[in-house]
Amino acid sequence: MECKTKGSSVTSFQGRGNSVEKATVVVIGGGATGVGILRDLAMRGVDVLLLEQRDLVYGSSSRYHGLLHSGGRYAVKDAAAGKECIEENTILRKIGKHCVEATEGFFIRLPEDDKAFEEKWVEGCRKVGIPAIPISPEEAWRLEPNLTRRIQSVYRVPDAAIDGFRMAWQNVASARRYGGRVRTYTEVIGIEQSNNQVVGVTVRNFFTGEVEKIACDFVVSAAGSWAGEIAGLAGIKVHVQPDRGTLLAFNHRLSSRIINRLRPASDGDIFVPHGSITILGTTSSPAESPEDNLPSTQEVLAMMKIGEATFENLGQYRLLRAFTGTRPLYSADPSAKGRGASRNFVILDHEKDNVKGFASIVGGKFTTYRLMAEKMSDLVCRQLKVTAPCRTAEEPLVEDPSPGLLEKARHYFPAYGTELAASRLGAERLEKVVQSMEQDPEKRQLVCECENITLAEVEAAAQDSTSHCLSDVRRKTRLGMGTCQGAFCTFRSVGVADSQNLTWGQDTNKLLQEFLQGRWNGIRPILWGNTLREAELTRGIYAGMLNINGVIDNEGK
Ligand SMILES: Cc1cc2nc3c(=O)[nH]c(=O)nc-3n(C[C@H](O)[C@H](O)[C@H](O)COP(=O)(O)OP(=O)(O)OC[C@H]3O[C@@H](n4cnc5c(N)ncnc54)[C@H](O)[C@@H]3O)c2cc1C
Repeated sequence: MECKTKGSSVTSFQGRGNSVEKATVVVIGGGATGVGILRDLAMRGVDVLLLEQRDLVYGSSSRYHGLLHSGGRYAVKDAAAGKECIEENTILRKIGKHCVEATEGFFIRLPEDDKAFEEKWVEGCRKVGIPAIPISPEEAWRLEPNLTRRIQSVYRVPDAAIDGFRMAWQNVASARRYGGRVRTYTEVIGIEQSNNQVVGVTVRNFFTGEVEKIACDFVVSAAGSWAGEIAGLAGIKVHVQPDRGTLLAFNHRLSSRIINRLRPASDGDIFVPHGSITILGTTSSPAESPEDNLPSTQEVLAMMKIGEATFENLGQYRLLRAFTGTRPLYSADPSAKGRGASRNFVILDHEKDNVKGFASIVGGKFTTYRLMAEKMSDLVCRQLKVTAPCRTAEEPLVEDPSPGLLEKARHYFPAYGTELAASRLGAERLEKVVQSMEQDPEKRQLVCECENITLAEVEAAAQDSTSHCLSDVRRKTRLGMGTCQGAFCTFRSVGVADSQNLTWGQDTNKLLQEFLQGRWNGIRPILWGNTLREAELTRGIYAGMLNINGVIDNEGK
């Protein structure tokens, strides 16, 4: 095996000084695909640096249902995609078990859904190898009492729920063990070439605006809905149409299983339970840009109406928030739009466009991120003459904590908090958090009761080199993502940051505003009933008691 060591063959980057950072491979984009490639290449011994314009999973990889597809969704229209899903579903349950909740799923047909489609679907699942087991509606109601009584047919499939935030962070934790590096808030604004060969990238710091160059031999674009823009930096046209999808989070688990409508893919036909909440999605409409991600009340109301076909009492459940993501739909045919466009992934080696050392990966699904990363890493390794094989399907993302560590942790965490923290953190980071709680009893305090996050964990997340604001801590810990949506944990976590000198050089009021604004964007389109009452309470705390002006900004939203 030939391994490229740090910057070993990076020689031709014009104008670089001694201080120029170097990597053999630069990966652009910290979504599921990018972190998967980072891990894969690092495990094969390649010197790899991932650059993300904001925080990890800023794009679609945190703005989705969180459904680890069994493949049932694609069984009729796209057998190859269905097969990839069932295979990757099996692998991710094994290597990422702390990120996956093995809920299983139902496909249900209602009277208005086409019976002929059901027959095609059953045959499709059989051909692809997706176990779809028919059960009676009575058995379905016994297992899921909230489901509509209008069900005609039901099938059990091995769908599961997957946590995008945790999956990304655990990929990074694994990559770091092999020397993989990550820089967040680092936007790529140029791809540098010499004699049609990529020699580096130009980046801009999101906070300071400072521009610098990073030398490398190969650039991988895993920029999702932004892939067209990244290709444009090298003068290449790649047609990626961002497709907008809005999702709703309910404050309850409506069912224990994932519920899919048994009909061709359409709006509002998937319910995914995660922990104590449920996500309902989604819509599909062309987005103006990848940042076109503020949900509207119209979208919320339309989805509620469609969702009531599956759960008739849907309107009685409290909505937590709405959020919107954009699907990175790639098509060689620019006229294919929305659900008509393929969900498959494509690797584009831009040597064909006369730019050597540059490739893009576009399209695909979260469920297949590991496979996408494997295929892209194969291409990179072929070109770098690295012969080490892919091992991401065998090695777990994080080690399980030992029984001894769990036992010790139980002394410090509330009731079921130990298991939650162990899944979030894995053995290595749990050990550090428990150690800190052992040494200083103050660190055992709960900062976020909804998600059972202790002061020790908030501190550990805040100290990570990729954290620059409270929302970054939220994505690593789930702080503020539970029932209160930040009403009570925001001021506590700002207090923690301030007392530990972890405010990242920012004014504490700005930290509060940034965090609450992020929460507000998802609450604003659903302001009625208990959500409205809670929003008023939050406003009372922050604007009334703490006198923080401009806590939320409605302008242009
Ligand atoms: C509404 C919706 C529901 C979905 N539901 C599911 C589901 O249930 N199951 C499933 O398997 N799939 C689902 N998907 C698809 C899935 O979310 C995406 O396919 C997947 O997350 C894409 O990951 P990615 O890493 O390719 O892109 P992203 O997660 O979008 O990552 C791209 C990253 O590149 C970064 N970037 C862009 N430009 C630059 C730059 N210049 N410099 C540095 N960084 C840059 C962005 O900030 C972003 O973080 C859904 C998608 C949507 C929109």
